Amino acid sequence: MAMEYSKLVELYEELSRTKKRLEKTHIISEFLKEVSIDDMEHVMLLLEGRVFPSYDAREIGVASRLMLKSLSAATGISQNKIENEWKKQGDLGLVAEVLVKTKKQATLHSAKLTLKKVFDNIRKLAELEGQGTVERKTQLIAELLTSAKPLESKYIVKTILEEMRIGVGEGAMRDAITWAFFGKETGVSYTKDGNEIIVEDRDVYNKYLDAVQSAYDVTNEFAQVAKAAKSKGLKGLESIGMQVGIPVQAMLALKVDTIEEGFETVGRPCAIEYKLDGFRIQAHKDDRGNIKLFTRRLEDVTKQFPDVVQFVKKNMKGKSFILDSEAVGYSKKTGKYLPFQNISQRIKRKYDIGKISEDFPVEVNVFDIIYYEGKSLINEEFRKRRGLLEKIVKQEPKKIVLAKSKITSDKKEVEKFFKDAVNSGNEGLMLKKLDAPYKPGARVGYMTKFKAMMETLDLVIVGAEWGEGKRSKWLSSYAIACIDDDGNFVEVGRVSTGLKEKEDEGLSFMEMTRMLKPLVILEKGKEVKVKPKIVIEVGYEEIQKSPSYSSGMALRFPRIVKFREDKGAEEASTLDYVKKLYEGQKKS
Ligand code: ATP
Repeated sequence: MAMEYSKLVELYEELSRTKKRLEKTHIISEFLKEVSIDDMEHVMLLLEGRVFPSYDAREIGVASRLMLKSLSAATGISQNKIENEWKKQGDLGLVAEVLVKTKKQATLHSAKLTLKKVFDNIRKLAELEGQGTVERKTQLIAELLTSAKPLESKYIVKTILEEMRIGVGEGAMRDAITWAFFGKETGVSYTKDGNEIIVEDRDVYNKYLDAVQSAYDVTNEFAQVAKAAKSKGLKGLESIGMQVGIPVQAMLALKVDTIEEGFETVGRPCAIEYKLDGFRIQAHKDDRGNIKLFTRRLEDVTKQFPDVVQFVKKNMKGKSFILDSEAVGYSKKTGKYLPFQNISQRIKRKYDIGKISEDFPVEVNVFDIIYYEGKSLINEEFRKRRGLLEKIVKQEPKKIVLAKSKITSDKKEVEKFFKDAVNSGNEGLMLKKLDAPYKPGARVGYMTKFKAMMETLDLVIVGAEWGEGKRSKWLSSYAIACIDDDGNFVEVGRVSTGLKEKEDEGLSFMEMTRMLKPLVILEKGKEVKVKPKIVIEVGYEEIQKSPSYSSGMALRFPRIVKFREDKGAEEASTLDYVKKLYEGQKKS
C-alpha cells in the first residue's frame, strides 16, 4: 500500500524534537525498516528536503511570491493578508500551517495525501516550461495544500521553497541505513545519554559502514544505497559500481602547513603538482559518446561548458571514462591564468553561453582518471592512473593539458616548484601519494595542499542590510555564518569590505544584491534575512571571542576575498574550525 505523506510528517516532527545525532539516526533507522522498496526513493529524497538527487540539474524553482499566490489560491485568503502574516512569522511554512488550520473546518476538503502524490507534484513543478507556467505551478501547489492537514502543509511549503532542514547530515544518513538493514549483523545500539554508539565488534560494524559509504560515494543517492541494502544486503551494496553519467564524490585534499609535513603525509618520493586556482570538473564520457560535466558539488554543468565538452571529446582517447580535472580561466589578452573569481560566473550561467565561453575561456588541466573503458580505477595506484592519462590525453595548451607534475623527494625542488607555481598565478601546490588509491569523498592524506595564503573562511550569508545614500539600492552589509555541530548557521560577524562599486571591477554590490534578493525570507526595516545559499570566502585580521554573535566568535576586520560559487552552504567552515584557528592564533 502506498505510504501516506502524514507518516513522513510524523517522522519530521519526531526528528525535530531531538538535537542528538544518535537519536536522530535511531529514529530514521527504525522508520526505514518499514519503508517498502517502492517508497524508498521518495522517502530518502524528501528526508533530505529534495525531489531530485543532488547531481540532477533540475530545480524546483518556486520563489516566495509564487508560494504566496498558491497559498492564496488554496485558502481563498488574500495575498496581502498572507504577506502580512509572513512578515510577522518570518516563515512561509508556519504561515501555511496556521492558514490551513483556520480554513480547514470551513471550506477545505481533506482527502489523504500519499507520499507519491506530494513527490510527483513537486517534481512536476521543475519540469514546467513556457506559457502558462505560473498558473500551472500555482495549481499544482494549491492542489497539494487543499488536501493537506495543517502540519503537512508546513512541510510541503518548506520542501517546495527548498527550506527543509532536519539537521541530519550525510554521515547520519549513512549510519541510519547501516543500523536499519545491518542492525542484527553489527549488534549496534547506543548509550542512554545518546552520546555514544555501542557495537559488539568494531571491525564488523566498520565493514558494513564502509560498504554503505562506498556505495554512496559512487551513486550519490541514498535511495539506491538503501534499496540495495534492503533487498540484497552486503552483496547488493558491493555490486553497486561506478556508473558513467552519475557523478562520484571527489577526493579532497588535506591541508599541510609545511613541505616537510607534506612529505610526512604522502611519503617520499611523491608527485607534486601546481594547485590551480580554477574549479573542479569531473568529466564523464559513456560508450555512446555522451559527455557530462559535474562540479565538485556534483552539479551538472555540461550545458554551461560546451567548450570543455569539445576538448574532452576531441582530445581524449577512449570510449568511456571519468576524469578529474581543474578548469582554469585565462586572459584572452595576455594568455595568463586568471583567478577563479573571473570565471566563476560561468558555472551558473543559463543564457548567452556561447558568448561567455568566448569571453571567459578556460583551460582544462586533467589530474586524475577514475574509470576507463568499462572499469573502475579507484583501487589502482595514483602513479598508474597518471601514467594512463599521459597516454590518452592529447595535450593542446589553452584547451586541455595534463596538470604540470613532477616526482621528487627533494625539499629544495619542491620549494622551487612552489615559487614557480605561485609566480605563474596558482594557489600553491599539491603533494600526492604515489601508491594511493582514489578515495571518493574522503579527505585522507592521499593528496595534500600547500598554500601561499593565510587561512580564510568559507562563510554563508544569512542576512544583509540595505545601504545608505548612494548605496541605498544595494544590500551592502552581510551577516556571515559558519556551521555549528548541529548543522545550524551561527553568525561570526558582518562584512561589507571587498566588493566593488562598479560592475566591471569584479564582484560588485549590484551583483551580490541580485543574487541575494530572491533569497530574502524576511524584511524588517533595513535588515533582511536570507536563505543560507551564498558562500563567500572571507579573510580577516584576527578571530575574537564575542557575545555579539550567535557563534560566540567574531572576525575582526573581515573582508570578502571571493564568491565561492563552487561551494554549497553545507560546505561552509565549521564552528569547530573557527575555534581551532582562534586557538592557533593564541599560540603564534
Ligand atoms: P580550497 O579552498 O583550498 O580550494 P577546498 O575545500 O575547495 O579547498 P580541497 O579539497 O581542500 O578543496 O582542495 C583541493 C582542491 O584544489 C580540489 O578540489 C581542486 O579543485 C583543486 N586543485 C587545483 N589543482 C589541483 C591538482 N593539481 N590536483 C588536485 N586538485 C587540484
